Amino acid sequence: MEFDELLITWYLREKRDLPWRNTSDPYRIWLSEIILQQTRVEQGLPYYLRFLNSFPRIGILAKADEEEVLKLWQGLGYYSRARNLHHTAKYVYHELKGVFPKSYGELRRLKGVGPYTAAAIASFAYGLPHAVIDGNVSRVLSRLFDLEAPVNSTQGKKQLEYLSERCLSKDKPDLYNQAIMELGALVCTPKNPRCTTCPVNEKCMALQAGTIEERPVKLKKSKPKKRRIDYAVIEAEDYFIMRKRQENDIWQGLYDFASVEDQEEVTEESILKLVQNTFPELRIESIDTRPEKTYTHILSHRRIEANFWRLKVDGVAEERVPYRKVEKDAIDQFAVPRLIHRFLDESCII
Ligand code: SF4
Repeated sequence: MEFDELLITWYLREKRDLPWRNTSDPYRIWLSEIILQQTRVEQGLPYYLRFLNSFPRIGILAKADEEEVLKLWQGLGYYSRARNLHHTAKYVYHELKGVFPKSYGELRRLKGVGPYTAAAIASFAYGLPHAVIDGNVSRVLSRLFDLEAPVNSTQGKKQLEYLSERCLSKDKPDLYNQAIMELGALVCTPKNPRCTTCPVNEKCMALQAGTIEERPVKLKKSKPKKRRIDYAVIEAEDYFIMRKRQENDIWQGLYDFASVEDQEEVTEESILKLVQNTFPELRIESIDTRPEKTYTHILSHRRIEANFWRLKVDGVAEERVPYRKVEKDAIDQFAVPRLIHRFLDESCII
């Protein structure tokens, strides 16, 4: 049997039953693919079901508030995916009369849709012959062909593109794409691949060469830079003062608190100054002498270290953009970054 036939036969026998595999609706496939970017299936599945429940059609998602979309996304990280999702829903609904694009080239023009996602939608929804390349596929191909070039180098990427198109089943591209990704997820795993039960082990060059442990080769990423944030958690009798994060920075559209950044020496005095300058109408009743602990949060290119200084205030704060008063019992309705959620949770605020 040819490679693609072996793979598809195995897939049809062993595949996991996942809801987005039982549909050819481009909206549902697109939704699942955006959620699954940088997210494991087990983590993404409940989000997919919740999104579909709240927004069963693209028009309903297009008409939703961005805050509602971000709130539903909370906990998944990489929030630009949620903003792009909403943007694309509005674009398809208003500009394309609700009809999803049908070709790879048109799909690529949608915000948040890169080569992988366009190939996935084109093949799963329309049966078009475009090969997907994600982390699982890179690993499988790198081992099958015993590739020495790093998979994240220009040369390695070119090799993967060439090989993925060459291996693709031209009459069943949808099943083939699903199958090779499933093989990477279930059999050709990063550690301890199950080569003895692998349906394509007889064709695997790394298995023959004894180089599986060394494949895929990857160029080392540079260390994430540190970013220190000292938050002022301003608490009045029945509200907190929160800030809606603005454009051109992480967590755009989510809520956190007033802050000072990247200062090595942050003291009680600097936090007091921040609050007095921002809200001169408030009287500060008490402030932490130092934060209880430092919270660490890793993003793809940043390591965030955050301290939370709690202050009790008296008086009525004026709402100045980007700040707003958030009633204490409504705080859990606001979309916040995971870091802020951890703080609110551990401090018994939510
Ligand atoms: Fe991966 Fe092993 Fe199969 Fe090769 S034989 S493709 S290394 S699981």
